[in-house]
Amino acid sequence: MLKRIFSRSQNNTTVPDKKAKKDVPEGLMTKCPQCQHIYYRKEVEKNLLVCPNCDHHHQMNAWTRIWSLFDEDTFIEWDKQLLSTNPLQFPAYLEKIEQDQKRTGLHEAVVTGKGLIDGQATAFAVMDASFRMGSMGSVVGEKITRAIENARKEAIPFIIFTASGGARMQEGVLSLMQMSKTSIAIERFSTAGGLMISVMTHPTTGGVTASFASLGDYNFAEPHALIGFAGRRIIEQTTREKLPDDFQTAEFLYKHGQIDQIIHRHNMKYVLSTILKMHNQNQTSKDKTSPSETAFVSIKGGRSV
Ligand SMILES: [Zn+2]
Repeated sequence: MLKRIFSRSQNNTTVPDKKAKKDVPEGLMTKCPQCQHIYYRKEVEKNLLVCPNCDHHHQMNAWTRIWSLFDEDTFIEWDKQLLSTNPLQFPAYLEKIEQDQKRTGLHEAVVTGKGLIDGQATAFAVMDASFRMGSMGSVVGEKITRAIENARKEAIPFIIFTASGGARMQEGVLSLMQMSKTSIAIERFSTAGGLMISVMTHPTTGGVTASFASLGDYNFAEPHALIGFAGRRIIEQTTREKLPDDFQTAEFLYKHGQIDQIIHRHNMKYVLSTILKMHNQNQTSKDKTSPSETAFVSIKGGRSV
């Protein structure tokens, strides 16, 4: 069954997007940074921000991602009121946060909550790379941790879409602490039998890759997403070796077993919905046979799909 759901994405491979810029520019028309074709912006938006000509996946902001996956009017946001302070008195940090808040309409670099995907309840977190490069400060870590804890309490799965430049330098060690905090929350959730799906989108780097982004029962990625820990130049200087051209792409990591599957954006809702359905079916059949046990049914082993 799983083989079948993934086979749909096989014909949709694209060329690596070295020259890819950030978001699709504002205005009536837009140019694909990969193939240089010019389109009506609405045409690309209708296509889930995938270039109709070359299949390049443009970056998607947090709320567009939510609208693309969740059933209409079912998403409820959690912890919107959590705001960053400036614990290390880093110069101009709060001003930069404020600028990004105004520009993006977000309070922080992650939106968390719960909603229905094809009628199935799931907890959700989505990072937005346009807010402080999606970097992970205390508030980002706290919101993700709370979302995982809520998923555990409500006995529902947890899905996260990552997009991050890594730890947030203005918060120093407090930012790095979020790696262990989120990882412990995932471990507790997993021990209780919770299902976690991680989808790495362009770019997912640094401490985010090295913690929750890689800890799902399923670890997926979008085509040609940049995924890595340290930058290419640093690794080349340290190891004194020339790295392959496709190093740190989703395709390279898939080939070497670090991620389970590359999912085209057009298939994303279908794949997530199918996995949630399988999980729910297991849960229902287990509830019938042993109602006293936890509502979760672990589906460990998903990594081998
Ligand atoms: Zn294109």
